[in-house]
Amino acid sequence: MIQLERITFHYEKHLPLFEEFSWQVARGQSWAVIGPSGCGKSTLLYLLAGLQHPQQGTLRINGEALNAPRPSTGLILQDYGLLPWSTVRQNVRLGLALRKFYGPDGKHTPAAGVPPQQEKAVDQWLERLGIAAIAEKFPGQISGGQRQRTAIARTLLLEPDLLLMDEPFASLDTPTREDLQQLVHTLAAERPLTTVSVTHTIDEALFLGEKILVLKNGGNRAPLVLENPFSGQGTQQSEPAYQALTARIREALRESA
Ligand code: ADP
Ligand code: MG
Repeated sequence: MIQLERITFHYEKHLPLFEEFSWQVARGQSWAVIGPSGCGKSTLLYLLAGLQHPQQGTLRINGEALNAPRPSTGLILQDYGLLPWSTVRQNVRLGLALRKFYGPDGKHTPAAGVPPQQEKAVDQWLERLGIAAIAEKFPGQISGGQRQRTAIARTLLLEPDLLLMDEPFASLDTPTREDLQQLVHTLAAERPLTTVSVTHTIDEALFLGEKILVLKNGGNRAPLVLENPFSGQGTQQSEPAYQALTARIREALRESA
């Protein structure tokens, strides 16, 4: 699904964050990306989203070189990106309205309104994310968890095949975060969705990623990839294998900090 071949990326006048970096993600896999602050986790998501471009190397999604954002990639950021002047329902509808305006290929094909069957899909996603009761409220009137549910509904309504999430639960309290981690895991398992989630906590990486990519500071060359049998299972801190994997990641992070 995702193929990075020897990509090099640096921000203008800065040292490379990625150097001849190769990495593959197969369709349907769930990946967690972990690494110290500033190592390039968000940058990697922007590259995958087609919002930044490598200076060298190729980045392909489904075999096609990525030159611009693709409509079937969903991106969820830490600050949710909700319009404060729109209700929950209007925010969930937003992606559809934009897609209708620009067309499924991202080109300009103006058309007004959202047809009834799509309005039904809006209702279904409001239900599925447990936010139907607050559909007419504004982002300023709801909790952080409810805002994130709104952002997730808006993104999944567009039926992405690739979902990119940048520390999506970082600012939520623990019970809310665990609920949403579980929900995202369930929703991803229900459909042919490939997910890449950036996180800075080991437990979240172990919950969300069946594979874990560990990034480091000072330029990433060879990716460190760990297999994780514990994804979607909640924290199993007592299990020796879980502890061993946690220790392995902690050690890798320490080396890379
Ligand atoms: P992370 O998400 O792992 O914390 P980022 O990908 O946000 O890291 O950033 C990686 C590095 O690139 C950081 O040192 C950051 O300061 C720098 N950086 C991020 N965006 C820009 C930019 N637009 N221009 C220059 N440097 C940037
Ligand atoms: Mg970041």
